[in-house]
Amino acid sequence: MKAGALIPLMASLVMCEAQDFRAARERMVRDHMEARGVKDARVLAAMRATPRHLFVPKALQGKAYEDTPLPIGYGQTISQPYIVASMTELLGVRPGDRVLEIGTGSGYQAAVLAQLAKEVYSIEIVEELGRQSRRLFEQLGHANIEVRIGDGYKGWPEKAPFDRIILTASPPEIPQALIDQLKNGGRLVAPEGKAWQELMVIDKDAAGKVKKRAVYGVQFVPMVKGK
Ligand code: SAH
Repeated sequence: MKAGALIPLMASLVMCEAQDFRAARERMVRDHMEARGVKDARVLAAMRATPRHLFVPKALQGKAYEDTPLPIGYGQTISQPYIVASMTELLGVRPGDRVLEIGTGSGYQAAVLAQLAKEVYSIEIVEELGRQSRRLFEQLGHANIEVRIGDGYKGWPEKAPFDRIILTASPPEIPQALIDQLKNGGRLVAPEGKAWQELMVIDKDAAGKVKKRAVYGVQFVPMVKGK
């Protein structure tokens, strides 16, 4: 084969691959999200648009659209797609919202939020994961995500208050500092607990009164204490 013929061949392989991923993503949304009760059209559109395979290690890209968490290195995991969709729906993000995420990890959840909110602030304690996600957001053009490398227990006081807060690592108890950084009328969604964890929704009403409810059992990596 002449060298010149190789380039169109490679280009068509890349396109094939992109289409395979798109088809897998459509199936993921239909079978694991819509079929299990996720209804919010904006959330489903964001899940359809986010290239999850770019957020997992290369060797695991073939599994990116299966309904399972996957290892992303440093003992951490990217959450199961259904859980990401369900938590995002519960968070009820509006287009003008400023959202705080604790646990950037692969950056997948933040990339989904970036399509629904005005600004996303995400804190990651593992430096290399934070840097990796920053690079990926740049490549994907998510200019409305800011990543901070640090301990999420303290939140991000300089950027507070937030309309929405989401935790993707589980603290033994939801930190008061984070509840304090939630706007009146705001909502926080977070796993809570150690071996036994529940997904909690905290609503702060117009007067600043807080109400908390458990939604379902979950299994997240622990939210570790900063040094
Ligand atoms: N939202 C991520 C999920 C990553 S798993 C995604 O979509 O891929 C949870 C992440 O929380 C891990 O990367 C872990 O390093 C991070 N984490 C754990 N404790 C933390 C803390 N105290 N502050 C900030 N991040 C923390």
